[in-house]
Order: sequence, then structure tokens, then C-alpha cells
Amino acid sequence: AKLIKDDCIVLYPYPAMGHLISMVELGKRFFDLSTDDVGCGFTVVVIVAEAPFVLPNIDVYIKTVTETHPSIVFLRLPPQPSFTADDYYPPSLRTIEIAFEFMRASNPFLRLSLQSISLFARVRGLFVDFFGTAAMDVADELGIPPYPFMASPAAQLAFFLYLPTMHDNTGSSFKDLERGTLLEFPGLPPLPAADVPQGLEDRNEKVYCEFLEMSKRIARAAGFVVNTFDWLEPRALTALENGAFVPDGAPKPPPCYAIGPLVAPDKGDGGAEYCLKWLDSQPRRSVVLLSFGSMGVFSTEQLREIAAGLERSGHRFLWVLRCNDNNAADLDALLPDGFFGRTRGKGLVWKSWVEQAAVLNRDSVGAFVTHCGWNSVLESVCAGVPMVAWPLYAEQRMIRVLVAEEMKLGVAVEIDEKGKVSAGELEKRVREVMDCSEGKALRERAENMKGHAAAAFGEGGPSRMALLRLAKTLKQI
Ligand code: UDP
Repeated sequence: AKLIKDDCIVLYPYPAMGHLISMVELGKRFFDLSTDDVGCGFTVVVIVAEAPFVLPNIDVYIKTVTETHPSIVFLRLPPQPSFTADDYYPPSLRTIEIAFEFMRASNPFLRLSLQSISLFARVRGLFVDFFGTAAMDVADELGIPPYPFMASPAAQLAFFLYLPTMHDNTGSSFKDLERGTLLEFPGLPPLPAADVPQGLEDRNEKVYCEFLEMSKRIARAAGFVVNTFDWLEPRALTALENGAFVPDGAPKPPPCYAIGPLVAPDKGDGGAEYCLKWLDSQPRRSVVLLSFGSMGVFSTEQLREIAAGLERSGHRFLWVLRCNDNNAADLDALLPDGFFGRTRGKGLVWKSWVEQAAVLNRDSVGAFVTHCGWNSVLESVCAGVPMVAWPLYAEQRMIRVLVAEEMKLGVAVEIDEKGKVSAGELEKRVREVMDCSEGKALRERAENMKGHAAAAFGEGGPSRMALLRLAKTLKQI
């Protein structure tokens, strides 16, 4: 309570690491605002709902943040026994549904926490994850301005804001359209119907209704905060600013603040010292990094295709391979015969966690085969590494379109109707980025965007200016 005082902002992330980390980075930015900028800084409180799944790194993470930023206060909500990890894994539509239900069920705890905080401080804004926008009801009740926070691209926010209109204008589910039908959403490039975010394919599914309800609810927010920056998503941010998605005669949309890139700081080797040393012994821009986020696992058949594709590309590689229960055992037996012998010295398969941001910043990394999680994409952008976009779940198919066609910072991997990527396809895409003239252009653009990413929060940079505008609005000055 000693630390919670004066003007305070409350962050209410969805408690998955990717969502939590970027929101905490927002908190650090608020905390770091110099006193000259807005009169005085903010106290930052992060309310963390106890996740219905195992978050192995969370205690260490909170401890580290508290050590470096002692004035960021974490409040942990009590566990909710009605949600269990068994419901949550493996990732499915139910996983997304649970995210919404779980956050809604946390509202009574959130209300109590906000009431307690209000005894010590003026709560100037509640920042809610887009899975947690049910918390806007609590904010309204307590007279606190609610700000949905997008741990995803601005294009995804534009997509949601137009979804209610699209829903009314089209009678059918996206899944019933031809896969290649191009959807026109203001702020997005033409989006194939097959690439809408996961959970939105079928309008009869409960999870679709959750998204639709959320899309309507956020239209009455005090403003939006998005983890992106002007140079990266000009089309989406312009559409959001102009309210291109607002039906004729409807009120002006809430303002949108692009305050990214918010990525976790480079934490050194994170226990993967050997891996980083190996990278440092490789030539500049020669290694293809493959990493598929916190939940990306593949069938044995797919693993074999990846191995064959890598080998055939002839390039050096670092493959971060998360195993599932079926193939956790002996990689030698799983991967093609003699794979390890033939690729010795040229390739490294790493079976545990690496600090991806640290790896991406190594000089030897020349391309990143990514599952298109938004944090991974931003980390790649900040490191100036071009991408091979291989989406797996959530809104990642849409992000593939953005990376390849809008930002032109990578190439898209083609996934067949069964969800598989062949060795030949992977080889082709890796070669495109590493060998061809197209790859050279991609590398130049990636390098250029790296400069913009660094400048976005520098003196006078657009993200810094947006944060200051937001801070002034919150302080009502
Ligand atoms: N990550 C990492 N090491 C790994 C796998 C993932 O450091 O071996 C980090 C990665 O840098 C990113 C986050 O985990 O910050 C994953 O977030 P993202 O949004 O990319 O994907 P998600 O896991 O949420 O699908």
C-alpha cells in the first residue's frame, strides 16, 4: 500500500506470458516517463489473475521485474478451481473460450482489488487485455476509464472493430466461403477467408459470439493501446485514426495509441550459453533460426519434413524444437536416418527454451522461421531479421499475410489443406530469404525497419509522442 499512491494506472493482462510481458513493458514505459513530461509519473499496479494453466516462469518473472522496477506493484488474484489445465490443453477453440470465461469470472476479484487500490490512489485508467474486456463493466461501475490493450497487431484491432458490420453484411460463416475469397476489412490488405483469426470461422460457435460481443463492447472504450508503431502498420493505424470502420452516422471512434514495439528486454543467455556460443562461432547472417513460440509442437511426420527441408536447403540452422508427449523421446529415432551426422557442425537442434530475443540479436542469424506470434514478429523486426512466416494458431494466419504482403518483411509458407508443410516448400522459402535477390531486398527492408523500431520510442518518436498524449489524457492535463 505504501507504493500505491497518487496517480495510478492499473494493468490487467491475460495471464499468458506473451500477453503479460508486453503489458508489463507498457507499465515500465509509464513508470519511466520523466517528471518533466507530464508533471509527474504514475504508480503502476499489475493485477494478475491466477492462470488456469501452468505458467512455469511467472514467479521468477515477477521477482525480476520487481527488482528492476520496485515501484511496479503486482497483485495476484486467488485461484479459480472451476478452471483447470485439463480444459485448457491441447490448444483448441475451447482454449480461447476459456480465456474469455476465465477473465469474466475474475471480475468480482478485480472489483475488490480496484476498490482497495482506490483507497490509496487515484486510478486514472484500467488497461485490459482483449480477452478481459468484460472488466470494462467493472471499470464503468467504478468510474475508471477503460483502455483495451492489444498484444496483437493494429490490423487485428481494425479487424475486430469492423467485425460487427461484416457480420451484419454477410449472412454466412467465414468457413462457408471459398478459402481464397478475399475479405475487405478497412485497414487490412485483402484477407483470404481461410486466414481470419482462429475462433471466427463459424458464426454458430460460442467462441465466435465471444469475439463478436467483445468487438461491440470495445467500441465504447476510452481509447485503445496497441503494441505496434506507425512505420510498421501505417495502413491499419490510419484506418483506426480515421474511423474507417465506423458505420455512417455512428459516433467518432475512441483514439488509438500505438506505443510499440514493447518487447521483453534481452535477458542474456537465459541458460542457453552453449547455444549462443555456437551461434557466435558461425559466419554473419548464415544461420536460419526456427522457433515456434510457447505452444508450437508438431507431429513426427511434420518434424521429419522440417528436417529434410532444412538439410536440402544447405543452410546452417538453429532449430528450437518443443516436443509433445508422443515425440519427447529420442530425436535420433524421430528424425530422418543420419540427419544429425550429416548436419553436424552446420546445424543445432535445441530441445529446451532459449531466450529468443537474445538469439535473434546474434549477428550470425540470417532468417527466422516463425509461427507468427506477435511478440516473435516484433522481436524479429527489432533485430532486423527477415522472416519465413509459418502460422500455427490464434491470429497467426492473418499475421502471415501482414508480414509477407503488407510489411514485406518476410515470405509466406504455404500450408496444405491438412495443415502440413512439405520439405520442398520449407526448402524453397528458406532459399528465397537466404539466397535470392528477393532475399536481399527483404534483408534491406528488415534492416531499415529495425532502425524505425529503435527510433519509435526515441526522442520525438511516434510511439513516445503517443504515450505522452495518452499520459496527458489520463491526467486530464
Ligand atoms: N520465447 C522464447 N523462447 C522460446 C520460445 C518462445 O524466448 O523458446 C518467447 C518469444 O521470444 C516471445 C514469446 O516467448 O517473446 C512468445 O510469444 P509469441 O507472441 O511470439 O507467441 P505465443 O507463444 O504467445 O504463441
